[in-house]
This record gives sequence, C-alpha cells and structure tokens, in this order.
Amino acid sequence: MNESELRFLKSVYSEYYLKHSNLVEVPPPVGKREIGFVIGNEKVMRRHMSFQDNEAIRKYILNNLPWDAFHSCSVYEFPENPIDKKNIIWNEIAFDIDAKDLGCEGEVYWICDRCGEVLKKGLQKCPRCENELREVNFITSTCIEKTYEKAKELVFSLIEDFGISEKEIKIFYSGHMGFHVYVDAQVFREISQDERREIIDFLLLNELQPSLLVTFSQLQVKNIGVGRRVISNMIKIIESPTDYVFLDEISVKKIEQRKNELISSIKEGSLKLILSLLGQRILKRIIQEALSMSKIPIDPSVTLDEHRIIRMPGTLNSKSSFPKFEVSLNERIYPLDLLPSYGEKSIKLKIKFAPSLKVKGETFKKLYNTEEEIPRFYAAYLVSKGVAQVV
Ligand SMILES: [Zn+2]
Repeated sequence: MNESELRFLKSVYSEYYLKHSNLVEVPPPVGKREIGFVIGNEKVMRRHMSFQDNEAIRKYILNNLPWDAFHSCSVYEFPENPIDKKNIIWNEIAFDIDAKDLGCEGEVYWICDRCGEVLKKGLQKCPRCENELREVNFITSTCIEKTYEKAKELVFSLIEDFGISEKEIKIFYSGHMGFHVYVDAQVFREISQDERREIIDFLLLNELQPSLLVTFSQLQVKNIGVGRRVISNMIKIIESPTDYVFLDEISVKKIEQRKNELISSIKEGSLKLILSLLGQRILKRIIQEALSMSKIPIDPSVTLDEHRIIRMPGTLNSKSSFPKFEVSLNERIYPLDLLPSYGEKSIKLKIKFAPSLKVKGETFKKLYNTEEEIPRFYAAYLVSKGVAQVV
C-alpha cells in the first residue's frame, strides 16, 4: 500500500472516530484490563497498555488512529505487567465464530498486482506475466448471514444449556467475516482450563457418539442440550429435503407426502415414523447430517486462552475498515445494513477488481478494471483489500 492509500484510509478512520468515538467501549472495570493497539505505517502491535476509563481510550484513538484495537477478556490486578505477572482477578469469556469455520470462505480470488489479472482458481504464478499471485478473501452477504445464524445458535445454547442469562451475553459483528459472543457471567468468572475445554467440546460436538443422544431401542432423541439442536436440524432437513444430496428421489417423495406428520413426530423426539417410512440407512444419514449441522464451530484458541485480547467494540477492523459493533439477538436483520454512518461522500478510485456486496441497504456491483466514484466507506474496504487505488 503506498502513501496516498494510507493517507486516504487515515482520513476515513479519522472521520469515523470523530463521529463515533462514543461507540468505542471497553467493558468495566476499564482500568483493570490490558489494552493493545496496532499503530503506525509499519502496523506495529503494542500490548500491555492500560487506561483509566473509556474517555482516555477514545482520546488515544482519536490522536493515534490505530489500525486495530483490542482489550483483554480477563480482569487483572496489574494489566501493564508481562503476562505471567498480571495476576488475574476474574475471567470473562469470548467466542469467535468465523465464516471460514462454517466452510464459508467468502469469495476468494487470486490477483496479480503487476498486470491486474484476476483468477478464481489458485495458481502459484500469473499465467500472463509470471508474477506471484496474491490471495484476497472478500466478504459475501451469504457468509455473513450464515455466520450470524450460528452466532445466534451459540447464544441460545449458552442460555439454555449453560443457564447464562441473556443480560450477561453480548453479540458483535467483528467488522470482517465473523461474530464475537462475549460473556461476563458469574459462573464463568473462575473457570479452569479444563472447564473451558469442556465447553469447547460441547459446542464443537467433539467425539460425540450419536448413541448419547439417541436411544435407538426406543427410537427417541433426547430433547435436551445437543439433542434439542439435533431435533431442530432434523426438522430443517425434512422441511426442504431437496437441499440434501444424500436423499434420493424416492425418499424426497415420501417425505413430501407426509411432511407435517413427520415434523410433528420429530418435534416430540420420536423417530418411529421416520424409520418406518425411510428405513434405517436413511434415518442414520439424517441423524448424521443433523449432528454435523448442530456443531457450533467456534475458534477454540480464542475461548481457551485466558490472556486473550479481543477486538475492541466500536473500533475499525483493518482487514475491511468496517467497525466491530453490537448486533441484536432477536431481530431478523442483515448485520451489514446496520453499519454506522461515515464516509458517505464519494471518491474516485481505480479498481482492479471487486465482487458485489450488500452493505447498508445498497448492493455494490461487481467491478473489474475500471475507474469509479464510490462512497468513501466502501472505497476504504476495497483499499484495505488491496484491490483499489486512489486516483
Ligand atoms: Zn500478471
């Protein structure tokens, strides 16, 4: 990235923080948390800082315009000390769900920075000029929606399976392709490493045997915990059987004919009707599929590490120049439509390539090798991805 792109990004960051520094919010007690920033043109990470309150953090951010900002999940006696001398007072827990862990890579392209070639398939070298290719992952609306759904499932599981109250949970769009679920609950405050590992295994369904959920002799699924998730995913399969390739034409036909009866029996946890209608082989496949749909693919390293620092709410994410912000649990919303307002004036960019993306109620079209006037906040996204230059 050259000087004029850096200057452009800084101007967008500055505008964002002048308008929205009130959104920057580290959870209390602010003064007892480690704070970290990525700053300067060399993008250096500075950790082990501490600030008295959110006002002091906002002031620092306005003066330094960091590329990224983080706070510790744990609360320390001495937040500025090296990690082994910080002394944890209590823990809070973060979960990170990223689109790629759902098998949703976004739109991946390989771009040649020398001749501008754009390829969908990964090659080592540019076929036109032999230059090294650069991989770029763009955000897609479908990935955002899918990941948001999983993040909501995680919240419901925390409430129903772990007895955490909704007030103790916050859910954030990460600013790029994921969501963070942040929990400050009394029951988690003194949690051990082993207990963290158990929570992770429960969510990822590691080493889970179907026999723990399904009593095959009674043809019944236990309607608690993971079983509840499995039942609701079995119903999803029955609701749109054509979406699942392992269901042959005859099975689909049988399901369509008795869909409502099937759904109400599965709701009760009963597998009798589905077995007599589709046979054992198909039943097992449906359970298997429902199990894999029931996994909540959190990033284990984020939840496991008690010294983890996590992106600060209200700050911009340098991967996209979009902010991390809180989203609601109940509404049916498309998170990128809720992006706070900034960078609305247009700027002319020379664009190598950009796939289409829905942001703030507008669909930005696919662009290829062109000069175009676009709003500055979206321009900052393309510049961050290294696919556009200021004219
Ligand atoms: Zn090339």
